[in-house]
Amino acid sequence: MTDLFAIRDLSVTYGAGAPAVERVSFTVGAREVVALLGANGAGKSSIMKALAGLVPASGELLFEGEPVSALSTRQRVARGIVYVPEGRAIVGSLTVRENLILGGYQVHAARRRERMAMVLELFPEIASKVERAAWRLSGGEQQMLAIGRGLMAGPKLLLLDEPSLGLAPLLVRRVFDRLAGIRADGDLAIILVEQNLQMTMRLADGIHFLRSGRIVGHRHRDDLRTGAARQEVIDAYLGAA
Ligand code: ATP
Repeated sequence: MTDLFAIRDLSVTYGAGAPAVERVSFTVGAREVVALLGANGAGKSSIMKALAGLVPASGELLFEGEPVSALSTRQRVARGIVYVPEGRAIVGSLTVRENLILGGYQVHAARRRERMAMVLELFPEIASKVERAAWRLSGGEQQMLAIGRGLMAGPKLLLLDEPSLGLAPLLVRRVFDRLAGIRADGDLAIILVEQNLQMTMRLADGIHFLRSGRIVGHRHRDDLRTGAARQEVIDAYLGAA
């Protein structure tokens, strides 16, 4: 299988300090879900921002075999690399529909209508609230809107930063159920950043463990089926938390 996205020796350094991300390499296949798991400050968001072109980084990024590290964020979106930031970052004063339109601003109007219908079908929770101001949605609905906005751009690869952040467990499960639906339906690969091992295992094919800006381990989902294997991973990579 050829890789959709190959990340080689990615490093991110802010100012004069130690690198936040140090020589991280991994690949994402077509329709594959790859998760980056690690504690606060491990460098997960920095990797995502670097892949989206939002922070300066060194290393090689090949998307569909083409180098993309010199491209702007907007150009990467046009290629199909779309970032859904942590904290949702929707525009609260705009309606649900307007937020979705923003996500598809680079897309032709006819395609945009098609995509919006697809997104609203995928997230019935927000379909009934399209004319409502986004700030009035629940946390889970806002997260669905943020993901839906990302899907409006027609991504081949979705960079999904901590979709569980700040959500009650029930809502986390609902958001991940929807993500599983997207995964089953669409021709879409996902890089998922998470701190929630349980949810990550429901969705990801492979999990890379990050500590202090480096990948320190990797597991296939099948390797984590038993409680003992999960405990081993938690102890080895994630600490007691
Ligand atoms: P979190 O879950 O808390 O977002 P993370 O794993 O995503 O954690 P990053 O946010 O990528 O980690 O942070 C990695 C390191 O880089 C941390 O030491 C953080 O303090 C530092 N850092 C992140 N953003 C900046 C910035 N804009 N300027 C300076 N340092 C930064």
